[in-house]
Amino acid sequence: MCHSQDHVKYANAHAWSSTRAGRTLRMARRLLGRLAYGSRYDRIPSSQRVYVRPGERLIREAQWRRLIRRAPVMSLAEYQRLRPLKDIEEFLSCMMCGESRQQPLFEPGANGWSYHVVRCPACGFLYRNPGIRPERLGDLYASGYNTFLTGRYAANRQRRYELTMEAFSPVFDEGKERRLLDFGSGVGLFLELAERRGFDAFGVDLSPESVVQANERLDSARTFYGAPEDVPEIAAGGFDVITLWSVLAHLPRPLEDFGRFRSLLAPGGLLLILTVNAHSTQLKAYGSGWSGFTKNHLMFYSSVTVRTLLRRTGFAGVAFAPHYGDTVEAGTTRLSGPMVSRLRRNVELSDGGNMMRVLAFADEEAIGRWGGGPLTVHRLNG
Ligand SMILES: [Zn+2]
Repeated sequence: MCHSQDHVKYANAHAWSSTRAGRTLRMARRLLGRLAYGSRYDRIPSSQRVYVRPGERLIREAQWRRLIRRAPVMSLAEYQRLRPLKDIEEFLSCMMCGESRQQPLFEPGANGWSYHVVRCPACGFLYRNPGIRPERLGDLYASGYNTFLTGRYAANRQRRYELTMEAFSPVFDEGKERRLLDFGSGVGLFLELAERRGFDAFGVDLSPESVVQANERLDSARTFYGAPEDVPEIAAGGFDVITLWSVLAHLPRPLEDFGRFRSLLAPGGLLLILTVNAHSTQLKAYGSGWSGFTKNHLMFYSSVTVRTLLRRTGFAGVAFAPHYGDTVEAGTTRLSGPMVSRLRRNVELSDGGNMMRVLAFADEEAIGRWGGGPLTVHRLNG
């Protein structure tokens, strides 16, 4: 068996996308879009357009299937020959299923950074490969991280947290007598909401400046620098709720982390996750230009692969709440009523929202206590 032709094909595909011919192709596609849809959708943000143009969902799904069918699949050894390895990087196999073969798909990048994203041909998991060695993660985070999280951006973030909790209402409505851990608590924006709802709230973060800033902001809640096991108050466990706000995609060793989260949860405990969705219709439409491929993201989960992660780390069940985009959720979108209905329908039919909201149940007790109402709980046993 010789896969070298695939290498050539792949290399050519890359050369093609960055040449004038590639640009012409993209322009032609845009023109075709214009012919098909006219200018009616021009004023709709690109993050909403793919969900409201008639037929686009099916077209993007067909394009995705074709991309998967055509992209080469290679052994890890072949893949390693293709990529130079930087000092802070490491080659990976699929962390969800152990498959070592690689299907190179995307090369996101912007000013001064770029990386490669592969798909696991066995389970579909999307991840950055080469990844970043865990002990070198600090090199990835530029200073100024905490100042970035203030002002208008902070208000938007808090709104997003509230809407996510609302999507699982009444699970997070009342915090009294409940112990909560926010993993990756940053400057404490979520902990502030949590303490307001009465939670006995704790946080951990790897940015010392953020931790100082958070503790200035907070009243009863407390945040600490380091990993959970470094902080006695947290290592003691017994949490009713653990939250991961836009943290999951940053974890280089998710199985280890989730095993630890599971053991930190009390009987009846819950884990709440907000992360980018690898089934997003926007990813299928924009490829390497997808907004979920940010500089520091390492792994990209879907409703399928996050189930694997939770099952393998001992969780009993999981529920999902579709994400329709911030402005639709907040009721501030400028889309008309019928357009909003169409957007919602397409997000639901394709499991294609740009973000994914996940509620994981530690055990049967958690499912029994919180799994009722409109939530569909998928059991993970076996
Ligand atoms: Zn896999």
